[in-house]
Amino acid sequence: MGDLVPMDVIVVGAGPTGLLLAAELALGGVRVEVIDRLTGPDLTLKGASIRITTAEMLDRRGLAPAIRESHRRSAAKARGPVGGEGGHLVAGGHFAAIPFSAELVDRSDPELRAHNAAADVMRVPQRDLEAILAAHAARLGAPVRRGVEVIGLKQDNDEVMLETSKGPRRARWVVGADGGRSTIRALAEIDFPGTEGELTGHQAFAETEADEELARGWNWTPRGVYLYDPAPGRIVVVRFGGPPVNRSAPVTAQEVQDNLRHVSGTSVTLTALQGTATRWTDNARLAAVFRCGRVLLAGDAAHIHSPFGGQGINLGIADAANLGWKLAATVRGWAPGGLLDTYEPERRPVAAWVLDWTRAQVALMRGDEKTRQLRAVFARHLLGTRAGTTEFVALTAGIGQRYALDGSDPAATVEVAADDEAGIPGARLGRLLGDVPLVGGGRLADHAHNGTFVLLDRTPGGALGRLSAPWAPRVRTITDHGTEPAGLLVRPDGVVAWAGNGGVQGLETALRRWAGEPA
Ligand SMILES: Cc1cc2nc3c(=O)[nH]c(=O)nc-3n(C[C@H](O)[C@H](O)[C@H](O)COP(=O)(O)OP(=O)(O)OC[C@H]3O[C@@H](n4cnc5c(N)ncnc54)[C@H](O)[C@@H]3O)c2cc1C
Repeated sequence: MGDLVPMDVIVVGAGPTGLLLAAELALGGVRVEVIDRLTGPDLTLKGASIRITTAEMLDRRGLAPAIRESHRRSAAKARGPVGGEGGHLVAGGHFAAIPFSAELVDRSDPELRAHNAAADVMRVPQRDLEAILAAHAARLGAPVRRGVEVIGLKQDNDEVMLETSKGPRRARWVVGADGGRSTIRALAEIDFPGTEGELTGHQAFAETEADEELARGWNWTPRGVYLYDPAPGRIVVVRFGGPPVNRSAPVTAQEVQDNLRHVSGTSVTLTALQGTATRWTDNARLAAVFRCGRVLLAGDAAHIHSPFGGQGINLGIADAANLGWKLAATVRGWAPGGLLDTYEPERRPVAAWVLDWTRAQVALMRGDEKTRQLRAVFARHLLGTRAGTTEFVALTAGIGQRYALDGSDPAATVEVAADDEAGIPGARLGRLLGDVPLVGGGRLADHAHNGTFVLLDRTPGGALGRLSAPWAPRVRTITDHGTEPAGLLVRPDGVVAWAGNGGVQGLETALRRWAGEPA
């Protein structure tokens, strides 16, 4: 496969991040291909669900029916809520194995309400997600070349040369979406500092014998934490005392059983594993930079952390959504100055926040008596309250991400929206837009399928549409009746770039800043 005609972009890695990124690039008119060293889809047992902002991104690209179908299949297999300390598994998940109680989530919270359209489609296994995204990318003309491993990389001012197991490949840009042990990151000599792991975790679906001693739901012991959910046979076991000695060996039923017996103090027997189990640790690392010349990083290649709270896919999908249109604009030549340079300052702080969020969970899971008491205080006085649970659900869902688009702060942040923030709830500057029903029928997300900017114009004379006309076809204007919000400019990644209450003030500046000069 010695292809010497350079691609615009080669994406290395066909996980969720690489697949969505390739699709976004193809939507932006870029010649792109994905290469992955595996010869077929990855069947390893990883993410069991997606979060609201991931579901919203897929909805924006017309993939809601596919994820809804996957959710329906998974929900049919599940036995119902997984209880722990009297809680229930809700869309928002858990913190340090303390499940969020559905009854305590304030459904009238304006931010949660603005993001409720996709909140019922969470149980999408990673395997299904990857199949949906691979089909989506293929439909858009972004092929996945499997069985191709990158082993070398060189770059100059114009292009990147990849050495692969199937011969040389050239591209103007390369994105490493090749996971936590990224070869691209190593070849580009990008540092990956962080904290070491202190535990060994396993996730498996297993057939068991003598499981009556295992408690259902999440359980802490002085030696670790385990989750047992017998209907699907799902086991998660976390053993404190250090990271795995050998991270590359296949996971066996014996190994999972040993750790489960040790942590639970039972004599349960695992007779067989169903499919491929996973072994992990909690090292948390963040790439020093997300770009080195013509090489960029996204997803786990740029940040790794423990899977507690299920944040990895959300991060990778948002990286891909953020980078996709910016890199496409750069390749196609319409990017305003510095557009690609906004990728790192927008995404890296969000990843840093997630790393800290997962580190805090590990600290709260430790088995000593003092941590046990801290957990009890935390569970009762914070996650036992309506305000605490609502805030944690919002943060875990990813709707707290805010990019400082007004230029007031150089970095992005993650926090629940403040009342005095610009815009109206759910449509605040720099935040991911939730669902906006249109008075004329349908939703704003229905108009985002082709990856353009979307401008909502509810001004009586269509003033916003007239002003933005020179930016067509990069900006799609949707006229509607209704009042709040009267005007909204939404970037292709779903971020609110401008919000107006009736006038056009600031819209042209926002258009030039994000969509470049008129077409
Ligand atoms: C046990 C477990 C449970 C998890 N649960 C959740 C969850 O519930 N929710 C959640 O959001 N996240 C969860 N995660 C995290 C989630 O799986 C990752 O964050 C996600 O897979 C990252 O996606 P990615 O596309 O960035 O990288 P990956 O999915 O790791 O994909 C990288 C791809 O790159 C390929 N590749 C690597 N090196 C090369 C090379 N040199 N050449 C060519 N190809 C290469 C690999 O074959 C792979 O296909 C879990 C993880 C684990 C381990």
